[in-house]
Amino acid sequence: MKASPVWHPFTQHGLNEPIPLIARSEGVWLHGADGRSWIDAISSWWVTTHGHSHPRIMAAIAEQAGRMDQLIFAGWTHEPAETLARELTAIMPPALTRVFFSDSGSTAVEVALKMALGYWLHRGEPRQGIVVLEHSYHGDTIGTMSVGERGVYNRAYEPLLFDVTTVPFPHAGAEQATYDALEAACRAGAAAFIVEPLLLGAGGMLVYPPAVLAALAAICARHGVLFIADEVMTAWGRTGTLLACEQAGVVPDLLCLSKGLTGGAVPLAVTMASEAIYAAHLSTDRSRMFFHSSSYTANPIACAAACANLAIWREEPVRERIATLAARQAERLAALPGVHNPRLCGTVAAAELPSDQSGYLAQLAPRFNAAAREAGVLLRALGNTVYVMPPYCITEDELDQVYAVIAGFA
Ligand SMILES: *Cc1c(COP(=O)(O)O)cnc(C)c1O
Repeated sequence: MKASPVWHPFTQHGLNEPIPLIARSEGVWLHGADGRSWIDAISSWWVTTHGHSHPRIMAAIAEQAGRMDQLIFAGWTHEPAETLARELTAIMPPALTRVFFSDSGSTAVEVALKMALGYWLHRGEPRQGIVVLEHSYHGDTIGTMSVGERGVYNRAYEPLLFDVTTVPFPHAGAEQATYDALEAACRAGAAAFIVEPLLLGAGGMLVYPPAVLAALAAICARHGVLFIADEVMTAWGRTGTLLACEQAGVVPDLLCLSKGLTGGAVPLAVTMASEAIYAAHLSTDRSRMFFHSSSYTANPIACAAACANLAIWREEPVRERIATLAARQAERLAALPGVHNPRLCGTVAAAELPSDQSGYLAQLAPRFNAAAREAGVLLRALGNTVYVMPPYCITEDELDQVYAVIAGFA
């Protein structure tokens, strides 16, 4: 057979690591074309919430696919988008009155940044500065890399990245340094502060408490600096609640959602905005419209999948499943010997494996990932950080299999 022409993301093909061919998925299980199966312990990179191929979501996709494929969304609309937008405004914080569709987490963040700058320009008070939290991740496009942590993964593109003000991560006991830096940046006239609420994912599964998130939002509010919550990973129950912001009583000015928006079945994203941000763009002057569109904005099939996800949230015991998983994760993490800095945030558990190297390229990660793969579990270490972020339907036995892999390495 000829070598595959596929160029995979975040994959060094020169290492010739095996790339399993998956034919079918159901619940937590990935079934390979060769008859082997794997437990997906990272929800296929944090997207799968209820479980793979959830029958209601797959049925909604099939039904919509029988009716309409794709529709231009500039000046035209369709029922799945209208329904989804209405339902989102009903369950998300009431102050977020407007729903702008796109197709990935990165795009949702780009849109939020553009809306923030548009807001200030149209108010006649142009502000441009973006404030970010150390170790953040917001995507891999040029704009989202600019507001994220700099490192080996974006060194080549550094000349294209725009300048931002970075405030230190609020390590326990050192929060004041974060508050002071944010206060100074706000005083200097920042346009917006963008943050991953409670849990920084790709930066190493770093957690900080709701009270700190509330304090950060309060500083921004005092200075009128827009607060952008990137809940692309943290929403849809990951941190224990529908939104992470909820735990801090924080209502952002802009909210980015993607990953679990369709239950993880198909790509879709939204940026939800406050009425003030929408109103700043509202005019009879066409030069003030919001200049952004992706070809597949609000794809009807993806919107139908998201509506099915919302129906599952309404009609199935999703919150109970999340609470159960969170409790099981806590038990197993506490019983895990030999790891450092164990931490939890809702359904997510993380810890450092002992290693004499650190950083994203630590040698431990590929060895750990390979051992997990051999043991029938999909896990993907971030440097020395291992984490378990499974679909909510994982059983006790399946979770035990996942932790057995980690215990073998700790
Ligand atoms: C995954 C992620 C993104 C990027 O989403 P994509 O759909 O991969 O573009 C942005 N922000 C956070 C917090 C993420 O975890």
